[in-house]
Amino acid sequence: MASKKYARADRDRCVACGACVLKCPRQAIKIWKGCFAQVDKAFCVGCGLCRNTCPADAITLKEREEG
Ligand code: SF4
Ligand code: SF4
Repeated sequence: MASKKYARADRDRCVACGACVLKCPRQAIKIWKGCFAQVDKAFCVGCGLCRNTCPADAITLKEREEG
């Protein structure tokens, strides 16, 4: 069962280090054109591992709006 949260990466803070990509158990994060992290909401389960590992504090967990 998915959590009600999902991760969102702030492209202005992200330094494209790729740490979050390696941590994500769902392969929900990609580095868009080598520039910044982008989370696919459809795969994200809101575990927060990416946020905890990000050295740039670029990831926040947002509430998922259902429906
Ligand atoms: S919150 Fe978890 S599942 Fe979602 S992108 Fe981050 S590491 Fe992946
Ligand atoms: S860990 Fe943070 S800085 Fe590194 S790619 Fe992910 S969002 Fe960007």
